[in-house]
Amino acid sequence: MNDRPRVLILGGTGDGRALATEAAGRFTITYSLAGRTRDPVLPDAVETRTGGFGGAEALAGWIAENRIAAVVDATHPFAGQIATHAAQAATQAGTPRLKLVRPAWDETAGDAWRRVTDIAAAVSLLPSVGGNAFLSIGRQEVAAFAGVDGVRLLIRSIDPPERDDQLPDATYIIGRGPFTTSQESALLREHDIDVVVSKNAGGAATYPKIAAARQAGIPVIMIDRPLPPDDQVVSDVGAAISWLEKTLG
Ligand code: NAP
Repeated sequence: MNDRPRVLILGGTGDGRALATEAAGRFTITYSLAGRTRDPVLPDAVETRTGGFGGAEALAGWIAENRIAAVVDATHPFAGQIATHAAQAATQAGTPRLKLVRPAWDETAGDAWRRVTDIAAAVSLLPSVGGNAFLSIGRQEVAAFAGVDGVRLLIRSIDPPERDDQLPDATYIIGRGPFTTSQESALLREHDIDVVVSKNAGGAATYPKIAAARQAGIPVIMIDRPLPPDDQVVSDVGAAISWLEKTLG
């Protein structure tokens, strides 16, 4: 058991969790979280570590010290810093690395997307698109919307915001998905939402709010993904398992 190849999975996503659980049958897995969510959902029967490594160099040291044979970066497509650090660290440690990331969503018939490149662009555009906005973009980025005038904000996050981070005029709701399209439609109606702001996360779990906006004819300010580091990329758990088997024999 102990001489099985050791794999570091950088997680914080449903796919990361699923990969950890599935790969645990053949490899010794460490599942790593940044520690942002107070009560995270964890994979079963897998060793977990929490907190930053202290930068790319320190992560390279951690990989070497723990005799990691392969790294899978299964972090969220908007977690750009850890993706860059993982790429640099794996190169430095001489350890194979894979990026597991869901394909981005595509605009489909009936959608009214306003695509922007980053949060700052979403903030600038918002007042010209609607007056009652639903933000479901994670706690970290909400602060950027502090200066937006004339727009009521409905903000959903998994954990309540820290008192200092609360925007005074916003309405906060706490909830952990996945939500169904009918739940999301009811939320949009209940709060009289006329614009949704979303990151292009991809995957099924957070898509219902996009489907609900389409059904209601509500525009979505869609924040495009940051460019990933030049990468070996797969888009599903099965392909990541195949890569591990091929790479580690
Ligand atoms: P980020 O900006 O790319 O990373 C900031 C720092 O957090 C990294 O430099 C690293 O610290 C630490 N870190 C991030 N992910 C880590 C992990 N899985 N294990 C250990 N350390 C990690 O990341 P973020 O956007 O804040 O996301 C943090 C976590 O939340 C990630 O695990 C991500 O998958 C998850 N998440 C993010 C989003 C999003 O929209 N950004 C959405 C859903 C889930 P050191 O440099 O000290 O190593």
